[in-house]
Amino acid sequence: MVVEQISDVEPRLCRVTREARPAGTVIDIRGVAIGGPEVVLIAGPCAVESEAQLLATARAVKAAGATILRGGAFKPRTSPYSFQGLKAEGLRLLALVRAETGLPVVTEVMDARHLEAVSACADILQIGSRNMQNVTLLEEVGKCRMPVLLKRGMSATLAEYLQAAEYIMNGGNEQVILCERGIRTFEPSTRNTLDLNAIPMLRRHTHLPVIVDPSHGTGHSWMVRPLACAAIAAGADGLLVEVHCDPPAALSDGAHSLTPDEFAQLTTEVASVAAAVGRACRADRRTLAARSAAARTPGAQVHT
Ligand code: PEP
Ligand code: MN
Repeated sequence: MVVEQISDVEPRLCRVTREARPAGTVIDIRGVAIGGPEVVLIAGPCAVESEAQLLATARAVKAAGATILRGGAFKPRTSPYSFQGLKAEGLRLLALVRAETGLPVVTEVMDARHLEAVSACADILQIGSRNMQNVTLLEEVGKCRMPVLLKRGMSATLAEYLQAAEYIMNGGNEQVILCERGIRTFEPSTRNTLDLNAIPMLRRHTHLPVIVDPSHGTGHSWMVRPLACAAIAAGADGLLVEVHCDPPAALSDGAHSLTPDEFAQLTTEVASVAAAVGRACRADRRTLAARSAAARTPGAQVHT
């Protein structure tokens, strides 16, 4: 059925389709290739809360093999009474920690009026699930010349999702990364239902890289690791994972945030799954061992 829905739309899509670029698209984020042979791990807190919180989390996820830092400064919360993010101060902290750790940063832009400020502190602009069909915002990021991580709307079909990506590409921005983050179903025991079907379906119909967010996709920290492995087994190009040093104290999404130790365990397992499906992963044991040995050697440069 979904194939038929996408195929119905496909003749009217031209830029996102697999036929437009059969070999696939690889997006370079300051030396980190998304969509290439290596699976990419993006991790960090749901929300930027303080300098100490962001720096500690960034260092921990980097040590475990993450190569891109996530963190929300503008938070589109379901309730107006929930923490809405540190906003401009959050952007300042992201820029600071990016400089301190060398990790590229992905953060959400909720409003076209914030584009300039967010672009100055980020390497990837995230469009959240709630804004996937915000046409004005899609058109504005379409005019930018920086990578966009477009999350799937929580009730969007794959055909609608690809049309949203087409908006961005139609503006001239070729650097779109797709992210399956769970959809609304009748099942209430998880926050969303992670749609693993979307991975092979999107890979078949589009040349754009596809990553998976098992954190929002499940809503339970104990489910994140198995679903992360399943996503890589199904062909995802990377993962977006929420990590917090003290999940019960998190200002948002503590229920599905992993501790740094849990994230390190996830990366080890994901590296094994990646190897089993013919993909590389920087969280493999040899790379991490080489990194920590070099980190112990004064003056050593680690190129991973
Ligand atoms: C997020 O990644 O911080 C987020 C808000 O996710 P989503 O848009 O998928 O709900
Ligand atoms: Mn979150």
